[in-house]
Amino acid sequence: MAEYDLVCDSCSQTCDPLDAVVTWTADGDSESDFALTHAAHAPTSGPSRIEARRLIWPNEFLAFVNARFGKRIADPEPLRAIVAALAPFVMRHDNAAEVDGMRAASFGAIPGVKPGTENGK
Ligand SMILES: [Zn+2]
Repeated sequence: MAEYDLVCDSCSQTCDPLDAVVTWTADGDSESDFALTHAAHAPTSGPSRIEARRLIWPNEFLAFVNARFGKRIADPEPLRAIVAALAPFVMRHDNAAEVDGMRAASFGAIPGVKPGTENGK
């Protein structure tokens, strides 16, 4: 198992980010039962869900984390584990062009264009 492998909360096997989902139960301002699983091992009815392949985009990751603030989460430990497990994928540096493009886009900038140099804006 590599250092940064995701591990399915259901079957305890490694899980490719392209085949993983994060699920949780929302009840008003309360959230619970956070889990990261293979898509095939996720609860099928009821819970909220988001695909891990979206969550490892910097802007989607930030949106997910920001959306959790202000919620009442009685047992935050599973959510902490999920955020920690996904963070290396968000910040991975082995796909520089793609990551730089997404990072720039997530801050509203244009990849390859120095901020403040876009003429006429
Ligand atoms: Zn699984």
